[in-house]
Amino acid sequence: MLEIKNLSVTYGKHKALQDVSISMTEAEAIVILGANGAGKSTLLKSVAGMVRPNTDAQIFMAGENLIGMPMHEVVETGIAVVPEGRGVFAELTVRENLLLGAYPKRARANEQANLDNVLTLFPRLAERRRQTVSTMSGGEQQMVAIGRALMSAPRLLMLDEPSLGLAPVLVGELFQSLAKIRESGVGLLIVEQNVKISLSIADRGYLLEAGRVVGQGTAEALADDPAVQNAFLGAA
Ligand code: ATP
Repeated sequence: MLEIKNLSVTYGKHKALQDVSISMTEAEAIVILGANGAGKSTLLKSVAGMVRPNTDAQIFMAGENLIGMPMHEVVETGIAVVPEGRGVFAELTVRENLLLGAYPKRARANEQANLDNVLTLFPRLAERRRQTVSTMSGGEQQMVAIGRALMSAPRLLMLDEPSLGLAPVLVGELFQSLAKIRESGVGLLIVEQNVKISLSIADRGYLLEAGRVVGQGTAEALADDPAVQNAFLGAA
């Protein structure tokens, strides 16, 4: 479904990504692990059309070339992003935030059905649909951000450090919801520093270090790989 080949990104002189190749099939759950600054966010931004890669990079979504495609067209290919820091509209209500996610053409016709799905997945949002998002807890705001992304009926949901700033009990709940989303047939590409819990719901993963893929394998293999532990210890 998603095919990334020879992706490099430079910011000025800094090489944030170097020759990264990653692929995933339909409805697979992939986790990208790496310490601060490893290039994880840059990877997601490259797919989403938010940063410009090198000229020989290739990024294909279901056969469509994403290189040079503006962000709003990337969404139409079935990709939704939950950015780091969530990007919710704090002064709007839960319902208003969710409806803003339904703007892609492919999602408009099924707006009500998608809204029902999101509110079934996150009953707490159903109870609080008229609440202003700024008054909600971090965990609830993360649900709003994910719910809004799901309103575009994506085939691939990309999440940038969804567990950041959440209490451990909420992280557990969040990943249970992500597992359900995945069971419903949506592919997941998750960038995380929380190794244990993200590998618990992933099929496979990649380890990024200083912009390069230095390890990859099944979630079980990565969980036992000393290189994964060292990557994070080295950064601490
Ligand atoms: P974190 O977990 O801290 O967000 P990350 O793995 O997501 O880290 P990136 O945000 O992709 O890493 O950044 C990779 C490198 O590129 C870092 O060294 C960062 O400082 C640098 N970088 C990111 N964005 C820019 C930018 N707009 N301009 C210059 N350098 C940048």
